[in-house]
Amino acid sequence: MSRFKVIYLNHATEDVYDIIRSQLPDGFDLITLEKDDDQERREKIKEVDFVLVATAKITEDMLRDAKKLKLIQHQGVGYDTTDVNTAKRMGIPIGLTPEGTSIGVAEHTILLILAVYKKIVVAHNSLVKGEWLQFALRPNSYEMYGKTLGLIGFGRIGREVAKRAKPFDVRILYYDKYIHVPVDEKEKLGVEEVSFKRLLSEADIVSLHVPLTNETRSMMNREVFKSMKNSAIFINTARGALVDEGALYEALRDRTIAGAGLDVFEKEPPSADNPLFKLDNVVLTPHISAGTKDALIAKMRAAFANLVRVTKGEVPFNLVP
Ligand code: NAD
Repeated sequence: MSRFKVIYLNHATEDVYDIIRSQLPDGFDLITLEKDDDQERREKIKEVDFVLVATAKITEDMLRDAKKLKLIQHQGVGYDTTDVNTAKRMGIPIGLTPEGTSIGVAEHTILLILAVYKKIVVAHNSLVKGEWLQFALRPNSYEMYGKTLGLIGFGRIGREVAKRAKPFDVRILYYDKYIHVPVDEKEKLGVEEVSFKRLLSEADIVSLHVPLTNETRSMMNREVFKSMKNSAIFINTARGALVDEGALYEALRDRTIAGAGLDVFEKEPPSADNPLFKLDNVVLTPHISAGTKDALIAKMRAAFANLVRVTKGEVPFNLVP
């Protein structure tokens, strides 16, 4: 029986490759990259049956000679890095992997809210420099209890955030342009649907959970930040390009809003001179919301199960429409 070749299109460390190999199904060979190099991607993609990808860009140029490709499987749910039109034209389906993603991002959202409210980075950095800010941080530190959380986007991740936020006794509002949530589910989750405008004016915590599309690109702009409360904090674990980063920087610098927790950036990695790095009211992480060993194992298990479905002639799960 012939074996199937799957390339892991992101360059990773041996530890990561070991975790991926631990979930590789029988009959599959894993192809890895020796370096983070598009030329190597272009060469190797020609020979494989499957692509498994995290964040690497998949361009028309790369797909042109990928004649054997049966499925592009994203290990997460964001697929704005793939040239969807070319893949469609070539008849290559794109699979997503919600498993192992939603919970990690939801936990990270709660982490960033608490970290911004409690000024955890300032507290840590000052402590290790010999400064003891036991009382100094109090006037500008807050609890989640009693606040209003506004979720923009109420899909898989938005709902997982709501579930985890509820025990903190917060009021939860959401705005979602497309999804319809039945009344009994809203009651169970303890959430209220509101307009975008109302969410911005009432939320103490505004957290973004929409995909990056032509419609959502730069949706968080200068006007939007101006319509938030001065005491509000902004959390982005979705995509950097949803935000006009220059406008966010000004809003944080001028205290138009009180703080931000960001896991994603317009440009990743951000330039060393990114002005956000100079602010004391931000907590920044390098796109690690779903970046745990637990999540990677869950993702690989589900992603490979989709590849196996294709080899059996079955329709893969979670396809991009
Ligand atoms: P999802 O598709 O389940 O939910 C997205 C929701 O956004 C949907 O309910 C949709 O109706 C809504 N939406 C779309 N366009 C909208 C608009 N213009 N205005 C308001 N709502 C709109 O997706 P998900 O699994 O919840 O993931 C959300 C995003 O999180 C992903 O697209 C991805 O970019 C990001 N993400 C980031 C990480 C990370 O590591 N930081 C990991 C996973 C996902």
